[in-house]
Amino acid sequence: MPEGDAVARTAARLTRALADGPLVRAELRWGGLGDVDLLGRRSLGTVSYGKHLLTRFDDGQTLRSHLRMDGMWYVDPTSRAASRDGGPDTRAVLATRVWTCRGRLLGMLDLVRTRDEPRLLAHLGPDLMAEDAETTLEPAVQRMAADPRGIGEVLLDQTVAAGIGTIWTSETLFRHEVSPWRPADRVDGAAILMTASRLMRASAAAPAAPGTPGSVPAGVYGREHAPCPRCGTPVARGMVGRAPTARRVFYCPTCQRV
Ligand SMILES: [Zn+2]
Repeated sequence: MPEGDAVARTAARLTRALADGPLVRAELRWGGLGDVDLLGRRSLGTVSYGKHLLTRFDDGQTLRSHLRMDGMWYVDPTSRAASRDGGPDTRAVLATRVWTCRGRLLGMLDLVRTRDEPRLLAHLGPDLMAEDAETTLEPAVQRMAADPRGIGEVLLDQTVAAGIGTIWTSETLFRHEVSPWRPADRVDGAAILMTASRLMRASAAAPAAPGTPGSVPAGVYGREHAPCPRCGTPVARGMVGRAPTARRVFYCPTCQRV
């Protein structure tokens, strides 16, 4: 699942692609949105919050999309994309004369008044990608300090802090030498959240694709059985949280202590 760094980069791509003029093609293939007419609207830019994308238009509306597991926005020159409809997985097509953006396998799509965006996001904790994370993450620090669940499960809970998934949960806890199962009320929540925020923002800014090896040096994520870079113990894989939302994390069983 794309995490906040990849989603922020997608937001920047959509902002650039839709900046050059009004929409000449706009199709929303989603439930009750089939009849919505966005032709002629201009994009005011796309921002991300956690794992959500908010594309704002000049008529006071916002298209919210979420990539869930496999969703992706593709950008192609309109000269090449115009004749394609993108196939059955395409949920949205937004095109200017120059660029065509196709949202495939999106997990969520809705249109709201821009002023109602806060209501869409009200259930989420502060965004780890925020420039001023040091200040805005304070409510998440407070919640962690009172949460006896394992820190891995708490980090993945988007209502505590938004945008982090299994990649950056694994990498953050590895750097702090903390087991994913140590109770969250027994960790330095502020330091852990700031590490996550720094790693994710560095990944979004790196030349390599965000959330992939190469964007930030990998410690444990995706390295099961390979030697821990710190102590040489084979990296292990385990599940945090409870079904149906249990998620897979990677960790070093020796140097990440409960
Ligand atoms: Zn180790």
